[in-house]
Amino acid sequence: MWEKPQFKSGFVNIIGNPNVGKSTLMNELVGEKLSIITAKAQTTRHRILGIVNGENFQLVFSDTPGIVKPVYKLHDSMMRSVKTALTDADIILYVTDVVETAEKNTTILPRLRRPHLSVIVALNKTDLVPPEETQRLMAEWQERLPAARIMAVSALKGVGVRELFDAIVERLPEGPVYYPDDSLTDRPERFFVTEIIREKIFLNYSKEIPYSCEVVIDSFKEAEDMVRINAIIYVMRESQKGILIGHKGESLKRVGTQARLDVEKFLGKKAFLGLQIKVAVDWRNNDNVLKRFGY
Ligand code: GDP
Ligand code: MG
Repeated sequence: MWEKPQFKSGFVNIIGNPNVGKSTLMNELVGEKLSIITAKAQTTRHRILGIVNGENFQLVFSDTPGIVKPVYKLHDSMMRSVKTALTDADIILYVTDVVETAEKNTTILPRLRRPHLSVIVALNKTDLVPPEETQRLMAEWQERLPAARIMAVSALKGVGVRELFDAIVERLPEGPVYYPDDSLTDRPERFFVTEIIREKIFLNYSKEIPYSCEVVIDSFKEAEDMVRINAIIYVMRESQKGILIGHKGESLKRVGTQARLDVEKFLGKKAFLGLQIKVAVDWRNNDNVLKRFGY
């Protein structure tokens, strides 16, 4: 008798230190630019779900903030989501790279050794070292985590990503369809617009400015062939407002233009993007403000 193949599904939570390439890898795995990627650490503050639907499986990826020591309340909230990521996952995709030192991973290791936890270690950025070094590091990781599957990848070059994807699907437990078939993500479009704007802020300003900004969508109106978006950038101090705006408004204009182009690409239609700057004093330490921003 013919038997329908069992449907497999599960939550794959991506964790790892800042800058090892989690966002880059997830985007490669999901095949869309969902999560912002910049050269600075800690740009990913939220958990983002990317969903891949196959014939017989559904994979739900979540990209978590890097593992950081709590300094501000904002960091507390980020650590909470890392902890949740460890408990509610079917598979943990632990991302490390060929350059980070061993002691950067010591606190997380005992948690990854918990029994019944399915762990895949992705050793990323293998494009930066010779193959022998990759082999040596893989053996080292296998020794640290005997029960884990260790896989070498280069998210940037797309090397080993297909094999990693297949290994994840192989490890999926039997399960239901968690999300309707056509859903790429559970985050609304406006969330991605704020992420795009934040990415441009990270790319255009230095030092503390990017970490002092939060972006909130004020209005989002869709018309037939275009979308009109107004966003507010909150800064922590009045002085930061001037830096953000720049000489004759040039800096903010550049951010706006770069963000609009990406928004148009992402939404597949023309966009108007209005940016306004407001001061929300010390929002990182203010519980009420954090709640309003969705942390
Ligand atoms: P995250 O903080 O872990 O999410 O890291 P990102 O995905 O934002 O990547 C951090 C930096 O590492 C970016 O500059 C990426 O371009 C870079 N990166 C990511 N994957 C690779 C890779 O496979 N090789 C190299 N050479 N760089 C990479
Ligand atoms: Mg990231």
